[in-house]
Amino acid sequence: MSPIGAPELLVRGRWVITDAAACEAGVHSDAAVLVSGSRIAAVGDWRAMRRAHPRARVVGDGTQLLMPGLVDAHSHGRALSPIQKGVLNDYLENNLLDWTFMPVFEPELTAALGAWRHLRSGCTTIHHMGFDTDGPQARRRCETAIRTYLDAGIRLAFAPGVRNIDRLVLDGVAFLDTLPADLKAFAEPLVHLDSKRIEEEYFALFDHLHRRFASEDTRVLLSPSWAQAVTESFLVRAKETADRLGKVPIHMHCVQTPVQRAFSFRKYGKSAIAWLDDLGLVDENLTLGHAIWVTDEDIDRLATRGASITSHPSCNLGMRNGLAPIYEMHRRGVNVAMGLDDKTINDDEDAVMELRMLHRLHRVPDYDLTTPALNAYDVLRMGTLNGARAVGFGGQIGALRPGMKADMILVNLDRVLRDPWMIEDLPIAEAFVYRAMGEDVETAIVGGRVVMQNRTMTTLDVDVLYREIRKAARAIGPAQRRHAETLRRLKPYVQRWYNAWLTPDAMQPFYVLNSRR
Ligand SMILES: [Zn+2]
Repeated sequence: MSPIGAPELLVRGRWVITDAAACEAGVHSDAAVLVSGSRIAAVGDWRAMRRAHPRARVVGDGTQLLMPGLVDAHSHGRALSPIQKGVLNDYLENNLLDWTFMPVFEPELTAALGAWRHLRSGCTTIHHMGFDTDGPQARRRCETAIRTYLDAGIRLAFAPGVRNIDRLVLDGVAFLDTLPADLKAFAEPLVHLDSKRIEEEYFALFDHLHRRFASEDTRVLLSPSWAQAVTESFLVRAKETADRLGKVPIHMHCVQTPVQRAFSFRKYGKSAIAWLDDLGLVDENLTLGHAIWVTDEDIDRLATRGASITSHPSCNLGMRNGLAPIYEMHRRGVNVAMGLDDKTINDDEDAVMELRMLHRLHRVPDYDLTTPALNAYDVLRMGTLNGARAVGFGGQIGALRPGMKADMILVNLDRVLRDPWMIEDLPIAEAFVYRAMGEDVETAIVGGRVVMQNRTMTTLDVDVLYREIRKAARAIGPAQRRHAETLRRLKPYVQRWYNAWLTPDAMQPFYVLNSRR
């Protein structure tokens, strides 16, 4: 029975992956999902479901793969990549000084483009995490982005993000003394931030957005955007706020590079994750973006506390970050989720390709039968259930089970199975993870609403959007260019500053990929 007046959909698949955690037991043939309103009402045999619901609108022709929509648990909502805006990817500490060269686009354009780029490759949920959401325009830009995402029909977890110390460089006050006079004068205002004011403005903005937009269908998260670039009082306040509002997830970048790792050992005498744990932040409510340069102990700590990490392998390759040891993390019980981070391998936000990156990058040389490589279900969990949990939708999305929100995709398997042939008994999940591309996703349904059908958005006109973006695009102005060029002059000083911190011991890797002698 459907709620009175609610439309019923019967979404049909030749194969239906209902739940990646159930592995083969969660895969059905010639099955269908009944959607009533915004939720899943039933899952079962297609013919029986059709007989029982003759008037339901049917989506899918019975040849496709039906599966839960993917979750991008870590992005910044910029949609246009740094490459498209003229900045090549590089080591984070260098790139931080390059990004000012990028032109800025209005949020109604980037949010709409972000929604389209995600939905077209099967991501039905985006976590938009602001990086520096402050200044006089912050509220307007956030509200506009949120409304645009919601109008486009993508499920949204939105986090304003901010850094209130050490934005320019870690341990910035001491760094100033290493600069020549002209650069010191330039850098001083970038180092001496009004941390308390930024903190106050951030929590006022968060409260406003949470009151206005957090709902059953949309999450507003807390994001001290980078663990080591906020004050301890900020972190403690984030935790108190999260608890007061009923466990709002806290999401932050952490140990993305060896520099960040070294900083914590120098400043706190312990790893960044141990430091966060001492502050009371490491629990099932915390998600760390990247978490590459962790210690063995950190992994156990994250697992014991039930914390999550997001892994963005394409971004990590582009930015020379190294690889997060997600094989170890997954094996020991850390909730590992997928993030696209605006920097995917083909520079097009293809979430299916990113699943494949997670699948392939951790196949280190090892033929021990007791430690098999990640399989398709492992990475599908990262892209569905684990991501759902990391962004505050645990138990609500990420699987096709009665009572859950109706977020799902239909994938055309022509290229995967009929190019020109494929054996029939290979698990369909493996075929998908090994061979599919984002462009094979035909239809996306979010909360029972068909937002993309046959690769056409039903909620926005992509041609018009592209025209608007091209019209709005312009090179950066002379003042921004001068500022960016001066920032670039800081690079050798920043490098010298950090070099002193990096001991060979700090660079010992989890994965050994080849020989030296
Ligand atoms: Zn990021």
